[in-house]
Amino acid sequence: MEETPEEAAKSILERLREGGLWQPHGLGLSYVKEGVNTVKLISQENTPSSAQARIRMRILIEGIGWKVDETICEITEVENLSLEQKHMKEMMMRQELAQSWKCSCGTPLSAFPLENGLWVHNGQEEMLLPNGEKEMVEQWSVEIQCPTCDAKIPTEPYDYGLLAGDDAMLVYKTSELIYTAVDRPTIITMVDNKVGESLLLLGTFCPFSGELLPPHVRGAVVSFESLNSGEEE
Ligand SMILES: [Zn+2]
Repeated sequence: MEETPEEAAKSILERLREGGLWQPHGLGLSYVKEGVNTVKLISQENTPSSAQARIRMRILIEGIGWKVDETICEITEVENLSLEQKHMKEMMMRQELAQSWKCSCGTPLSAFPLENGLWVHNGQEEMLLPNGEKEMVEQWSVEIQCPTCDAKIPTEPYDYGLLAGDDAMLVYKTSELIYTAVDRPTIITMVDNKVGESLLLLGTFCPFSGELLPPHVRGAVVSFESLNSGEEE
């Protein structure tokens, strides 16, 4: 069963967090979800195709009962950027937006103790691949807690990475251990100095507790430390 453009847009918008960015592929348009069933168009590229897409998208989004706020839309010049530069620019935009995400009590998510984020496995979900086939994909979220009102907020792993930064993705805590991903130069130095046995190569499960590890940790070379290392026997 093919998903219609309306169904696809609806499912994207419903999943998008408040303040989250949506850039439909290849249209030169950037939307931010804001308020109940409303998206704000924040930028449109200065090309005829982007201008036409803007009209089409508006009809599509309004057709599924959402509102489009175009009052602050900025028209941006198309720059001759390499793919890498485009990616960098997009990352900066996403990071900037992440700074505006707030808890219902008003505390910015960026002020949460993000290093204490708890990875939660939410089972599997069927995903539609671009070739039309379906695949079961593990669903994970990272639970972060508000330091002001104690609310626990489940965050998409990608959003968590935006908020907490790349370094937070290099450290992973199980119930007993803390793993830290080790980069290649450090691995080489450690092996040369014959301390390589304190390194571990991770698979799907924690070799100590048997806990399921989140995908980004699997296949990583890590050093590890017991969380109870203070209590020597
Ligand atoms: Zn709060």
